[in-house]
Amino acid sequence: MNNTEYDVVIIGGGPGGLSAALYSARARLKTLVVEEKRKTGGQCLTTSELENYPGIIKDSGPALMDKFTEHAKHFGAEFIQGHAQSLTLSENGLQKTVQLKEGRELKAKSVIIATGTRPRVLGIPGEKEFAGRGVSYCATCDADFYTDLDVVVVGSGNTAVEESVFLTRYVNSLTMVVIHDEGHLDADRIAREQAYANEKITFLWNSTVTAIIGDELVEAVEVKNVKTGACSRLATNGVFMFVGTVPKPTGCCR
Ligand SMILES: Cc1cc2nc3c(=O)[nH]c(=O)nc-3n(C[C@H](O)[C@H](O)[C@H](O)COP(=O)(O)OP(=O)(O)OC[C@H]3O[C@@H](n4cnc5c(N)ncnc54)[C@H](O)[C@@H]3O)c2cc1C
Repeated sequence: MNNTEYDVVIIGGGPGGLSAALYSARARLKTLVVEEKRKTGGQCLTTSELENYPGIIKDSGPALMDKFTEHAKHFGAEFIQGHAQSLTLSENGLQKTVQLKEGRELKAKSVIIATGTRPRVLGIPGEKEFAGRGVSYCATCDADFYTDLDVVVVGSGNTAVEESVFLTRYVNSLTMVVIHDEGHLDADRIAREQAYANEKITFLWNSTVTAIIGDELVEAVEVKNVKTGACSRLATNGVFMFVGTVPKPTGCCR
């Protein structure tokens, strides 16, 4: 067991944790980042192109994350691989102990939890059952499986719209199920314009998906018009859910 006390232990080595590490280490605080994966970078590791980071016109997610990591290391941040599973406070609350699944304990004056988010689920029938067999939460990860097939996207925010446009590189057709009135997408103008101009995308307005239906794989979704209450069935090979994210629970956060 290593009893080194850190000024700051950061749980999670995604862009949030890496930014915190840079600031903390540069402030000459003894800083440790604990990342459960072999590589730092979090969700950005699954992003092929990042275009909205000031000063970087375009870079791949992994390449940019390498730069974030190097930047934090440059100022002295240390890194270890491990899964933080609980956090305890000393009686006076001043000392924090992070317990790793691997058995090691880390002492710190401050702990920053930067464990990211996970996709929000709708909790509808079929969603859990078909996860990985027609229900997906990541276009970058799964788009290729749907080459020349027909898919449904649930959601209307920036992620839903941008990921839909990305998916059209692969799929035959894509139906966006949007809960709002016609013409209302919660995405920025560039994303909206790209989606409207894309011939593969059609929109089902005032609608939500209430069930995912199939046998071995997804075959259809049940769509409900939220204004009229009318339900209909739409044949599809896959459903991509982009209805937001929620903080990722870890042992430490409870
Ligand atoms: C496909 C895709 C494309 C995207 N494209 C863009 C884009 O173009 N531009 C943009 O700005 N954003 C984009 N994003 C969003 C961006 O990736 C996220 O906003 C960002 O990664 C969030 O950073 P984070 O550090 O908060 O969390 P995460 O990136 O989720 O990092 C959390 C880290 O914590 C680690 N962790 C979790 N629990 C523990 C634990 N108990 N112990 C140790 N480690 C733990 C995880 O392994 C992970 O590495 C995209 C996301 C995806 C999935």
